[in-house]
Amino acid sequence: MQEQSKNNSELMGTSGSPEKINLKGLTLSELAGLVAEWDEPKYRAAQLASWIYGKRVSNFEHMSNLPKGFRAKLMKEASISEVRAVSCTVSDADVATKYLFELTSGDKVESVLMHDQERTTICISSQVGCAMACDFCATGKMGFFRNLSASEILDQFTAIERDLSEDKAVTNVVFMGMGEPLANYDQTLKSVRLLSDSDGYGMSEKRITISTVGLAPRMRQLAREGLKCNLALSLNAATDNVRTRLMPINEKYPIDEVLAAAKEWALATKRKATLEYVLIRDVNDADADAKRLRKLMSRLPCKLNLIPFNEIEDSEFRRPELNRIECFRQIVASGQHVAPIRFSKGHDIAAACGQLRTDFGKPGTMIRKAS
Ligand code: SAH
Repeated sequence: MQEQSKNNSELMGTSGSPEKINLKGLTLSELAGLVAEWDEPKYRAAQLASWIYGKRVSNFEHMSNLPKGFRAKLMKEASISEVRAVSCTVSDADVATKYLFELTSGDKVESVLMHDQERTTICISSQVGCAMACDFCATGKMGFFRNLSASEILDQFTAIERDLSEDKAVTNVVFMGMGEPLANYDQTLKSVRLLSDSDGYGMSEKRITISTVGLAPRMRQLAREGLKCNLALSLNAATDNVRTRLMPINEKYPIDEVLAAAKEWALATKRKATLEYVLIRDVNDADADAKRLRKLMSRLPCKLNLIPFNEIEDSEFRRPELNRIECFRQIVASGQHVAPIRFSKGHDIAAACGQLRTDFGKPGTMIRKAS
């Protein structure tokens, strides 16, 4: 088994305790490799996975069906990482909570919890910062620091899930926080698999969405993974000129290529790709843009999310007036396309799409400091 040949330091997540093996983020077969190294029966791997992922238990002492001696060994040699929440900020109408997490490396990432009538969604970060440098995105303006490990991605999920009231459960996970998930392909995919595996957290793949700037080769690779998660492509413009101005990555992967890759993904998975389009006043919100977008959408099975621009510091971009947004939507929808307008939640606390950046003193009501 390939995973079994990895040594302990390769398996170690960065958010566990440094001298111990972090079990969070390990697949069942990786756990089986460790269990074999420890001369324990094979079924211990499934027991561990069930405690760590199924029951979300991170204290070895509570793993009651493991023999005492094995629990003592685990306490000595292994850990189950948890991330530290530095602060949680709740939006006015309590529709969004922004979490600032500090990783053991000292790096900070933000994640957002969003509620509506039907869904409880966690918006998760895949990198510290982002290298894509999209001009309208606060994370893009931070620059790139590093990739997160699968355990650091999952730590955000478990920390927020633990903070939910009893009557709530996470229904959806979206990789729309800080970073470009497909630029951290292996760790993103590993976390998607662990979130959705029956030996993992057991979520439905269809309730997990990976959002990308359009790294075409990685989108095509994703098409072949046999995963049923959703793919959202941040298109954001209907001409290459405008898209390159907003998203430098368009020079490498222009509109024709990213749409072809999204089509390949849609055909392989038999799902509709989601196109995201951030509406920015006088940049990409004209009737002509809507008509071009409608035409582009006819190339592939897709739906559209129109996201009114969320204003950020150091940017002259503005959100269009409501009637402009509605006119744009109507033109696109006249092509029989689904084109809802998605007003991001958590605008008042800088937790909305594209507003995440880990610096301090941002507006919002600090309701509590987490320990
Ligand atoms: N790198 C990924 C995921 C993070 S961004 C991607 O680009 O898809 C998640 C979504 O937020 C993207 O659709 C992006 O276009 C959008 N977004 C970024 N900045 C925004 C802003 N200031 N206002 C509204 N949406 C924004």
